[in-house]
Amino acid sequence: MESRSPQLTAGGGAGPSCSSPPPPGPPAAASAAEPQQQQHAPADAGPAPPRRGPDRQQEYLEQKYGSKEAHVNLTKEQVEGMLDRALEESGTVKYLLESLKLGGCGVGRSFFHVTACDQQVGGGFSTDYGVILCHNRLQHQREVELAVAHELIHAYDYCRAANLDLTNCHHHACTEIRAANLSGDCSFASELLRGNALSESLVGQHKRCVRRRALMSVAMNPYCAGAKAEQAVADMMPKCFKDTDPWPRVPGL
Ligand SMILES: [Zn+2]
Repeated sequence: MESRSPQLTAGGGAGPSCSSPPPPGPPAAASAAEPQQQQHAPADAGPAPPRRGPDRQQEYLEQKYGSKEAHVNLTKEQVEGMLDRALEESGTVKYLLESLKLGGCGVGRSFFHVTACDQQVGGGFSTDYGVILCHNRLQHQREVELAVAHELIHAYDYCRAANLDLTNCHHHACTEIRAANLSGDCSFASELLRGNALSESLVGQHKRCVRRRALMSVAMNPYCAGAKAEQAVADMMPKCFKDTDPWPRVPGL
């Protein structure tokens, strides 16, 4: 994947709200849990879901990510409110929304869905539905903002690349590396919340975190189990860690 500026053309991008129709294939990135915060990994590789209105959509999301009976942490309504706030107030989220728009892939509020999840994931990005947040796996505003930013980076990558294929472990590794690097997932504060920053050398902490979280996510991809995930992340780290598009550098560092 090549870096482009925020003024990128859609590049034939097939995204949730890009001008081209999305390709068939797996919804992408969901997110596995680490203590205190969520990790992001691919969702399943099932067939594309039908688009038949809000009820069918909710039903589909519950089938895919879990049931209403899943352990509740925050309520759907609480996370909907936090999501609204993130969309209005988070600098990272607003910048990504603007970048998507400039790339021809602008998204509205209906791009975001809140549901309960059985999987240990904080959220996901579906090429068919957009961003999914798992209210029962999220605990506070900061986590919601990070999850939204993380998934929007996947949406951005899906928009800018004509051929992003999330069944391809190297493609998936690249977008996970970028999402971990750029969303704030690996900020000092985020690592501190997980209890990692104080137990590791600060030198290289950010990069170690990016590698660790990208690996967790790619390892959840059914196409990339075991050594495949490790190889893909190792192969893509040099290139994708440096790719900070649409920012000129890693935000907040
Ligand atoms: Zn992810």
